[in-house]
Amino acid sequence: MFDTTKFPASIDYDAFCEPALLATRLINSPQGLHYDYCFYFGKTVPAETPSGFSVEQGPAYLPYQYACDKAIDELTQDDIEAVQKQRLLLADNITFEIQDDIPPYARTAISKGSTGKWLSTIRISRSVYDDALSKNITPEQNARINLQVACVLIHELAHAAHHRLFGPVREDYREESNIAEAGFEAVACLFGFTPKIKNDWNAWTTWQYRRTHAAYDLTKIGRRVWQLPEKVEKWLMEPEFVMKLSDDDFWEAESGEYLLEGAFALIPDCVPPLCEPGNDEDIHLYEALPLSIRDLFRTEGPSYAKRMYAGYANSERQLRTRPENDYRFKKETLAD
Ligand SMILES: [Zn+2]
Repeated sequence: MFDTTKFPASIDYDAFCEPALLATRLINSPQGLHYDYCFYFGKTVPAETPSGFSVEQGPAYLPYQYACDKAIDELTQDDIEAVQKQRLLLADNITFEIQDDIPPYARTAISKGSTGKWLSTIRISRSVYDDALSKNITPEQNARINLQVACVLIHELAHAAHHRLFGPVREDYREESNIAEAGFEAVACLFGFTPKIKNDWNAWTTWQYRRTHAAYDLTKIGRRVWQLPEKVEKWLMEPEFVMKLSDDDFWEAESGEYLLEGAFALIPDCVPPLCEPGNDEDIHLYEALPLSIRDLFRTEGPSYAKRMYAGYANSERQLRTRPENDYRFKKETLAD
C-alpha cells in the first residue's frame, strides 16, 4: 500500500519507512481488518439525517449509515482474505505527494482515471514530511513521529477507500457515529480514541465533539450533534505506549504482547474503565467510542453489532452500495 513506487522519486522515501511499517501493522491488526471489513462489506442501514441537511444538495450528497453484523472477534479467515483483495485494488488507485501549501496534516484529492476508476492523490503536508525526516531525536520522539505519520497515512487511506467505491460524494456514518468522517473514524476504530501527539500534546482525544474541527461543517456531516460532548476530552498518552508501537519485539516476538493480547494490546488504559458495566458517569464518553471497540469488552452473549445489525448480514461479501434513490429525499415528496 505504501511502497516506494507510490511516492515521488524526488523525496527521501526513507523518511516514510518506519511510519509506513507501523501503518501496515496497524491496518492488519484485528481492529484494522474489521474497520475495512465493515467499510467494504457492511450494509447501508437507515440513518437519521444531518442536522441542517438541505434537500437541494440531492441524494448524492447525503451521508448514509453503514454497519456490519460482525464484531472484531467474529471475522473469519475468508472475511480477512476478502478485505485483503479490496486493499490490493485500492493500492492500484492511490499515489502520494508532498505539498507545501496545505495545513497539516494531509488532504486527499480525487480524480477520474482514463479507465473510469476514481483515483486518489494523497497530499501529505510538507510539515509532516519534515517531521518524518527528523534526525538526531530521541527514541521517544522518533516513536511519536512514527505514530503521528502512520495515523496520517491511515486517515487518508480511509478517504481514498471511500473515493474508490463511491466517487466524490459525502462519506457515511459508521455504525453509531455522529460525524461522517472516514479518516478519524478509521483511526478511532484502532485505538478507541484518536492520538494527538504534536505541539506538546501527547494525548488520546475524542474526535466527536460539538465544536469539532473548524474545517468541518457539522450541519452537513453531523447528526444528533446535541448529544456530542461540548468540547474535546483528552487523556495523557503513556510514553511507553508510543514506544512499544515502534518496537519490533512488540509485534514480532513469539511471546510478545501483541501476539498474546491481539486487539487489546492496542487499546490505551483510558478505554477499559469506560466500558466497565455500571459506568454511567462517563456515558457520553462511552458513546464516543466506536461500537466495534465497545464490543471488545462485552462479557457474554453475542456482540452488540450482531444484536443490532443481524438483519443486515452480508453472507456473500458483496461490496457495500448506497441506495440510488432514497424515497425520503425525493424532492417531490418534500415539496409540501
Ligand atoms: Zn479526514
